[in-house]
Amino acid sequence: MLQNNAGANGVKSRHFGTNGSFGKGRQLTHVIQREHSDKETGEGIEPPPKRRLPRGVPDKVAARWEGYKTIVHLDMDAFFAAVEQQHNPALRNKPVIIGGLPGYRGVVSTCSYEARVYGVKSGMPSAEAYRLCPHGIFMQTDGHKYTWVSVEILSLLKQFSPTVEPFSIDEAFIDISGIWQRYGSPADMVNSIKDAIKGKTGLTCSAGIGPNKMIAKMSSGMDKPDGLTEVHPERVPAFLENLPVEAVWGIGKATGKALEKVGIDTVGELAKTDRSLLKRLFGVAGLALHEIANGVGDTEVTPFYQKPNEKSIGHETTLPKDTASVEILTANLRMLSERVGRRMRKSGFEARRVTLKFRYADFSTFTRAKTLSGYIRSDTAIFHQAMRLLKENKQRTDSIRLVGISVSKLRDTYNSFQEDLFRSSGESKLSCICETMDKIKDSYGDNAITYLSTMTRYV
Ligand SMILES: [Mg+2]
Repeated sequence: MLQNNAGANGVKSRHFGTNGSFGKGRQLTHVIQREHSDKETGEGIEPPPKRRLPRGVPDKVAARWEGYKTIVHLDMDAFFAAVEQQHNPALRNKPVIIGGLPGYRGVVSTCSYEARVYGVKSGMPSAEAYRLCPHGIFMQTDGHKYTWVSVEILSLLKQFSPTVEPFSIDEAFIDISGIWQRYGSPADMVNSIKDAIKGKTGLTCSAGIGPNKMIAKMSSGMDKPDGLTEVHPERVPAFLENLPVEAVWGIGKATGKALEKVGIDTVGELAKTDRSLLKRLFGVAGLALHEIANGVGDTEVTPFYQKPNEKSIGHETTLPKDTASVEILTANLRMLSERVGRRMRKSGFEARRVTLKFRYADFSTFTRAKTLSGYIRSDTAIFHQAMRLLKENKQRTDSIRLVGISVSKLRDTYNSFQEDLFRSSGESKLSCICETMDKIKDSYGDNAITYLSTMTRYV
C-alpha cells in the first residue's frame, strides 16, 4: 500500500520534533530503545513520556495502535479570526468577528473565542452577532491571507507524512499509519505536528486520531481549542454509543429528524437497529447509516497531488438586495460563471452540464439544468447557458434573493486535445482568453482582471 511504503520512506531526515526539531541521532536512539524494551519486557512498546495526553485515554492505550490504520484529522481553531489576530497583535485577546459587516446582509464566517463567549457563532447573521457583541471587531474575510497560511501549514504537514488530504481551507486528514512509531505513539506524533504548526504560524489547532476519517473528524471536534482526542479502534463503539445521531459526520438534520421519528435518537440505538428495517425506511442509504453507526468509515486519505473525484463544481451568491433587475442578475451570473469556470479549469476539468439555481424572495427555490452536446470550459460558455436557462424558466417577475451556477458531467481536460481540433473555433478562442485571465489572476490575485459586465453587479 502507498501509505505503508510512504511510512517507511516518507519522512526521512526533516523532522519537527517535540522541541522544535530533533536530528537523526535522537531518532536512532529512540528506535534502539524501543527494540530494547521489546526484547527485555516482551511486552508492547513503551511510549516515551508525554507532555499532553489525550483526554481520558490511559497511557498504555496510545501504544496499542500497532497494526491499525491511524488517521488524523486536524482542524485549525477559529482559523480566519486567529490568522487576523496573529497578523495584527492589536487584535489579540479581543472579540474578532470575520464575515459580513453589521449593517449589511451577511453572516459570520468565523469568530475568535473571545467573541464566542458572547454567544457569537459561525453562520449567524452579522446583525445578530452585532446585537450580542456590539463592541466586537468586525472584519471582512481576506481570502488571500488565509490561503497563504493554509498553504504554509500544508507544506509543513507534508514533512510529517506524504499522505495529506486538505479537506477545507483549515482542515486536513493525515494518514500516519506506520509513521507514528518514530515518535513513540500517534498522540506524540500529533503533538509534534501541533507544535510545529504553532512554531511556524503561531496558530493552534485541534486534532482527532481514529481508525478512519469519520472517527478522526468527529473526535477532533471534541476538545476545542488546542485539543487532542484519540479514539482507539476498540473504543469506537463506546465513543459513538451515546452520541445523538445528528452529531455523526454524514448524518444531516433531515435524516436526523427522520430517525428520531422512528425512535432512534442515539448512534448506539442506530447501530443496534435491524439492517432490513433501515433499508425499508431509507433505501440503500439506510445500510450506509448502519455502517456509519457501527463506526465503519472511509480510511482512504487522498494526497493533495491526486485530483479529487469531483462530481460538480458550483458557486452561489445571496444578492445584497432582493432584485428583479435583469442587469444585476446578469452581472451576478457573469461573476458566478467566472468563478465556476476558474475553479473548473484549475482542477483540470471541463463540463457538459450547466445548472442554474435561483431563489425568490419568498424562499421558493428552483434549479434548471441543461446537458450540452459537447464539453465547455470557458466562462462565457457557462454564462450563456446560465442566461438561456434563466430566460427560459423565469416565469415570475418578483424579486430574486439568490442565484447559483454549477457545472457537472465533468471530465479531465487531457481527454480533449484531439477534439480541440474539431471544436467550434469560438469556444476554443474563449477558452484561450480564460486561460490567459487565469494566469493573470494566479500572479496578481483574483481581482486583477474581470469582465466589464461583472463589474456592474453592484449598480
Ligand atoms: Mg476550524
